Amino acid sequence: MMQQVYFHQDSRRGPHGTYNWLVDEVKELGEALEGNNIGALEDEFADVIAWVASLANILDVDLEKAALSKYRGKCPKCGETTCQCAPVE
Ligand SMILES: [Zn+2]
Repeated sequence: MMQQVYFHQDSRRGPHGTYNWLVDEVKELGEALEGNNIGALEDEFADVIAWVASLANILDVDLEKAALSKYRGKCPKCGETTCQCAPVE
C-alpha cells in the first residue's frame, strides 16, 4: 500500500532523506511516550511503520518477507516460541 501511495515521492527523496524522516518519527514516538495519550501513541506508531515501509520500498526490501523470515513465531536467537534469552534492559 505504501508503495502504491508514496513510492513516486519516496524514490525521489532517496534512502538517506527517507531514513532521516524515519529517525524524526522515532523521536516523536519517544516524545509521545512521555504523555498519557493513547491517540498520540497510535499516531506516532503509524508514522514509524509508514516510514519503515517507505525506506524498505526504496531499497527494494520485501519487509514482510524479511520480518517473517527472522521472526516467524520464535525467537531468532534461542529458537524458542517463548524467548528464553537473558532479559535485555
Ligand atoms: Zn530468545
